[in-house]
Amino acid sequence: MADTRHTKVLIIGSGPAGYTAGIYAARAMLEPVLVQGMEPGGQLTMTTEVENFPGFVEVQGPDLMTKMQEHAQATGCEIVSDVITALDLSQRPFRASGDSGTTYTADAVILATGARAKWLGLPSEEKFKGHGVSACATCDGFFYRGEEIVVVGGGNTAVEEALFLTKFASKVTLIHRRDELRAEKVLQERLFRNPKIEPLWFHTLEEVLGTEDPLAVTGVKVRNVNTGEVTEIPCKGVFIAIGHAPASELVADQLETHMGGYVKVEPGSTRTSVPGVFAAGDLTDHVYRQAVTSAGMGCMAALDAEAFLAAEGIG
Ligand SMILES: Cc1cc2nc3c(=O)[nH]c(=O)nc-3n(C[C@H](O)[C@H](O)[C@H](O)COP(=O)(O)OP(=O)(O)OC[C@H]3O[C@@H](n4cnc5c(N)ncnc54)[C@H](O)[C@@H]3O)c2cc1C
Repeated sequence: MADTRHTKVLIIGSGPAGYTAGIYAARAMLEPVLVQGMEPGGQLTMTTEVENFPGFVEVQGPDLMTKMQEHAQATGCEIVSDVITALDLSQRPFRASGDSGTTYTADAVILATGARAKWLGLPSEEKFKGHGVSACATCDGFFYRGEEIVVVGGGNTAVEEALFLTKFASKVTLIHRRDELRAEKVLQERLFRNPKIEPLWFHTLEEVLGTEDPLAVTGVKVRNVNTGEVTEIPCKGVFIAIGHAPASELVADQLETHMGGYVKVEPGSTRTSVPGVFAAGDLTDHVYRQAVTSAGMGCMAALDAEAFLAAEGIG
């Protein structure tokens, strides 16, 4: 028989935003239930060293997320291994259907489903992810001091990543399939003025090349889209910068979104367009997209949910 369970606060997502919301909601005695989703621990489980989370000079991404999970559990947050497949925010209590068959009803919902970097989908890209292939210059640029790097893309993300990477790299090759960029003009000007950046027009990334043991990138194969000619570029790092997509499918037609699907929150809060529904982390953030900012927003969401429930006489 299908199982239905009620909670005051349902947290959807187990990245830094979700676990931090879990810690704060549990400590507010709201007995939250956190549904982990298909990627327990979120995006940081896909990377190796994290060197910018306060309190840790260096920590492995999966270890940091295990610690956050343990912390949330220790405070009394219930963590459930399930994936939410449908969410009804049209009436209260809100209703969420789990892939397990469980229906969750909740007085308040905290959405922390994150965002996903868009990838090219090449097998070699997948193979070297976290070992020379990255989608986050702020996170991983530091590892390429004095090295040659390639960046793939032609929009704002690619140009910003390329500019940022010149702080570390000896040379940045920007691979773009056209001969003009989609990025804002001011960014383009900065890019063209930077002597460390060399655009490679009319090329696409064909394959990431590297060693097996240890897994490490040594270069890329690129294809000229006009001539079909394939050439190799030596490099130690490959940054795929073709954009991010917020994981907002569950709520896209129920909540206000902007900037290509990011859930809109009232400035300075995590309140969405539906009272009682709060959103935190990369799901709402097309600008910073960091673990620490997501954790901060998770805290805000729990405090906002607590205030909402108190005003409703729940909690
Ligand atoms: C390769 C890489 C390296 C990075 N390195 C760093 C770094 O060094 N420092 C840094 O600060 N940031 C780094 N980042 C960025 C950082 O990982 C993100 O900013 C952060 O993880 C966002 O946290 P979040 O909680 O919003 O969401 P995410 O971490 O994206 O987690 C989303 C969660 O939602 C869950 N979910 C999604 N859909 C559903 C559903 N339908 N039902 C239930 N659950 C669902 C997923 O399972 C997942 O647990 C990196 C990102 C990548 C990709």
